[in-house]
Order: sequence, then C-alpha cells, then structure tokens
Amino acid sequence: MSLYRNGNGNSDAGEITVFLGSFVHAESGNNPFVLVNNGVIGVQHGKIIFVDVEDNLDVLKEKFSFSGDNIQVMGQGEFIMPGLVDTHIHAPQYPNAGLGLDLPLLEWLEKYTFPMESRFEDVSFARACYKKVVQRTVNCGTTTASYFATIHKAAAEILADIVELSGQRAFIGKVNMDCYSPDNYCETTADSLKSTEEFILNINKRKNSRVQPIITPRFALTCSEELMTGLGNLAKKYDVNIQTHLCESIPEVQRALELFPNCKNYTEIYEKVGLLTNKSIMAHCVHMTDEEIGLLKKYSTGVAHCPASNMCLLSGLCPIRKIHDAGVSVGLGTDVSGGYTASILEQMRLAIIMSKCLKMEDRSCPREALNYKEVFYFATLGGANALSIGDKIGNFKVGKYFDALHIDLASADSPVHLFPGETLLDMVEKFIMLGDDRNIVQVFVDGKNVKKSVQPLLLT
Ligand SMILES: [Zn+2]
Repeated sequence: MSLYRNGNGNSDAGEITVFLGSFVHAESGNNPFVLVNNGVIGVQHGKIIFVDVEDNLDVLKEKFSFSGDNIQVMGQGEFIMPGLVDTHIHAPQYPNAGLGLDLPLLEWLEKYTFPMESRFEDVSFARACYKKVVQRTVNCGTTTASYFATIHKAAAEILADIVELSGQRAFIGKVNMDCYSPDNYCETTADSLKSTEEFILNINKRKNSRVQPIITPRFALTCSEELMTGLGNLAKKYDVNIQTHLCESIPEVQRALELFPNCKNYTEIYEKVGLLTNKSIMAHCVHMTDEEIGLLKKYSTGVAHCPASNMCLLSGLCPIRKIHDAGVSVGLGTDVSGGYTASILEQMRLAIIMSKCLKMEDRSCPREALNYKEVFYFATLGGANALSIGDKIGNFKVGKYFDALHIDLASADSPVHLFPGETLLDMVEKFIMLGDDRNIVQVFVDGKNVKKSVQPLLLT
C-alpha cells in the first residue's frame, strides 16, 4: 500500500505532486521498455515537470519548492506506468460486449451491430450506455480512447459530455453511413456532412483539449465516394483526426473493390478521397499488400491492431510486426464488441498470442513473435503515436501530460501472487500477463485521479 501524505492523489492547481518509487515506460519504438527502480516523477498543472532518481530528491525539493507532504511513495509490489491507449472502440456496441461472436464480420454487422447502434437515436438509452462504457474503460486503465459513436449527432455529443465529466482523454467520432445500410440506420450524404460539421464545431466550442472530434466514416462499404471526399475536406478544413476500418476481412476487401473498381486496392480508395493523412488511424489492416503498407507509411497514417476482434470474427491473423517494422505507427484497440472486452491489457496478451500463431504457421519467417515489451509499447506510446498525440502523452517525458496508472500487485483480491526475490521486471511482466482492474488502483489523466471522478457518473 502506498503512503500518500497529501491525501487526494490529485495534482490540482499549482500544487506539485511527486511520485517516488518504481516506474516503467517506453522511451521509443526502439527502446520500448525502460525500468526505473528508485525514480521520482514531479507533476504540476497536469504536466510532468521533472523525471529523476531518488538520490536527487533533496536537490529537487529545493529547486521545485516542495516538501514531504507532496510525495506519494510507491510501496512493495507497486509501480507507475503510462496510461493505456485504446485506439479503436465502439462505445454503442458495449451492450453487446461478450455476445454474438458466432458470425463473421459482414453477417455480424447485419445481425447484431446495426440493430444495436440504431437504438442510439434514443438519447436516454445512449446516456445510460455511455456512462457504463466510460466507467468500464477508465477502470480498465484506459486514459485515452478513440471512440466510434453512431450516426446520431445528439448521442455522440452525450458521449462527449460524459467523457468530459469523467476526466478521460478521448477522440469522439460521429459515424457516417450513406449507402448499403439498413433503412433505419442510414443518412443522406448531405445530412451526414452537415451534421458532422456541426458536431466538430460543437465539440471544438468546449475548448477542452482532452475531448477532440474525429472524422469517422464507418468504412468504404457504407460510404459513397462523395461522402468520403466531403469528410476528407472537413478533416482538412478543421485539422481534425480521422478513423475508419481497413482490410479487416477478405469478403470486406472483395466488396470494397467491387464498389470502387477504379482502385487497385482498398487502401487506395481512402487515398483517393483524402482520408489518408498523418492524423488518420486505420483499424485492423489484416489483409494488406506490401504496396498498401507502403501507402500508410507514405502518409504517416497509424494502425489500430485489434487482436480479440480479429480472432472472434474470424477476420484473420494480422501480421502486425511486419506493419510496425515497415515504420507504421501501431497501437492496440479493443474494438468492442467485435472484441469481447474493453480491456487493453487483454489485447496486449492476445497480440502476443496472435503473433505466436503466425510464427507457428510459418516458422521459416525471419520475424520473431511479439514479446511483452513490444506490446507494452503498442499499448502506451505506440498508441499515442498512432493517434498522432505522441508529443503530448504516452511516456514520462518532461512537458507531457501525466496520464498514468498506479499499479498495486498486492491490492485486495489481486489476481497476481508475488514471491520472494522477484524483481520489478518480474512484477511488470506478471501484471501484463495476469493483472486486471483490481491492480489498477489509481488512473491519472492530466495529473488527476479519474478513477475517483468516474464512479459518481453512474449515480447521476
Ligand atoms: Zn471497429
């Protein structure tokens, strides 16, 4: 149990909070896992103001004018790590999490997903659902999420309200669909563009840097060329991020090429309409040619790797190391409810397992399977880079926002057992493979403990 002499665990106003003890973070893609045993991290106004070692504590106290009362000491079995980044999650599919995984992607969309999403025209249903999903993701340690909402602008704005109240950092996307969609869950091209522009303006009006709009065409199968071109223009006009799906399953790729016969591959469809930018993120990318991976690299477009979803919907084994090695930024996504869980920790494990399956399929492949250090990077700094906010969050660098998790492997009901002689490395590896929300005792966004602020949301 940690000692916190100042009480609330928040870095409010101008007060400095100092975390003393063990921490782990990624320096970069080439140095994805750095352990510090006796470290100190100072936080003020939500940002990291120093990162140092305990031996220099007295000098730091003098320089930054803080006392022992400002220090939170990590105890035995505890450490600090960067917050988890969920680069791809469908908030309105949360009621279906754990259900309906008996069908492949296109049939699954028709039978389970579109009927559920169409219910979000009802704003009270939307509010009740969105409170639960935000609470769940925060409890799972997700400090930043990139949410798909539905085509309904009012419900998407409610999601933004709830995220804002919770203290989580998020991109919120009003989904666009103007063709080949159910009659009760489809927009006209003009309405879709108009409501998206209004949505961007309404979110930007809040002037909350933690809550950003993101352009969200569902995918090329339900969006006309005119709509996607208009959305590309809006992204440019307002300098906002873009998210969509790409090369998730073979039947989806085939259908995309039938609909856009002038494009030689699926990725080129998005290129032609202006949806590939350095602020775009493509979910899945399971079935990509080398040329398509090259296009993502060319535009500095990121990839959301969603292993639970890819396996549950029989989409395929994504060769994510190949994409990462090509220089494309990769993060992890839960893809609820194609993925059954809102936990990024679970995606870390499944990314390792999927990579091992690929290795078993082709042992002659020179690429090694992913290890826990690499998936740790994907879940933190890699995800931040894939969402093009790696300069603001993702690791412990002076000047970045303090988005972090306080992990306690000795917490009440901990699913992890520790044994004498185990090192910090052992503890972190065990947390990645065995830990869950019972071990995530504090969740900081901008230096504030949002695990506290998210709980009352369900009561309102
Ligand atoms: Zn998805």
